Amino acid sequence: MRLVFLGPPGAGKGTQARILSERFGARQISTGDILRDNQERQTDLGHMAESYMQRGDLVPDALIVKMIEAELAECSNFIMDGFPRTVAQAEALDALLKERRLALDAAVLFAANPQTLVARLTSRWTNPRTGRTYNTITDPPRVPGVDDEDGGPLMQRDDDRPETVIRRLEVYDAQTKPLVAFYRATGRLVEVDALQPVDTVTAQILKVAVSAQPQATS
Ligand code: ADP
Ligand code: AMP
Repeated sequence: MRLVFLGPPGAGKGTQARILSERFGARQISTGDILRDNQERQTDLGHMAESYMQRGDLVPDALIVKMIEAELAECSNFIMDGFPRTVAQAEALDALLKERRLALDAAVLFAANPQTLVARLTSRWTNPRTGRTYNTITDPPRVPGVDDEDGGPLMQRDDDRPETVIRRLEVYDAQTKPLVAFYRATGRLVEVDALQPVDTVTAQILKVAVSAQPQATS
């Protein structure tokens, strides 16, 4: 399985990538999670990415592509959530896959409207250790602020504040939306209605993007 999940912040890409990567044994590659982990460990990459992430801007393509090269060196079954975010990143991904004689199965576009996204992001709580997300409105943890699985604290991301969310949505429109045409032009775009409940979105993805896929291992 080789999928990329496209769509604005808050559309549910991480939620679905987590569910499907577990179910199919594919690797979830979330560039946002990798960058946050680098910040936590105070690596050079973490320091270089920090100011962009705080503002809600994209981290420069060269840094991101280098990161993806390292991730892909180790696996050929993946679900990417949060990458690619620019046409240059998508072209770099195609080139990396071509070198390895691999191809994407599909780019799944998560369609949603801005009002829903702002509501979802401002009520999102995350386990920084595993990347698992909750939502205080639609999917709350059993105990507020505590992860159901590891019992540790949940946090709200700095960039989920309303003013940064607005900036991230603008950045999506300006820099990431052109990828819809990029993948449509090569017949790889499929679309799901991201406003549906989590289980329904999973079922849609299975139908349009993975129904023909064998159960793969990473
Ligand atoms: P993304 O990775 O696209 O930024 P997330 O998967 O982190 O988005 O989801 C954003 C928020 O919306 C989280 O709080 C998550 O629990 C919630 N969420 C995800 N999918 C749905 C859905 N289908 N319906 C309602 N809430 C959802
Ligand atoms: P996310 O967790 O996907 O919402 O990403 C959080 C932030 O990390 C974004 O607002 C960007 O600053 C940065 N980021 C994540 N993925 C990418 C990417 N593919 N290209 C550039 N910046 C990224």
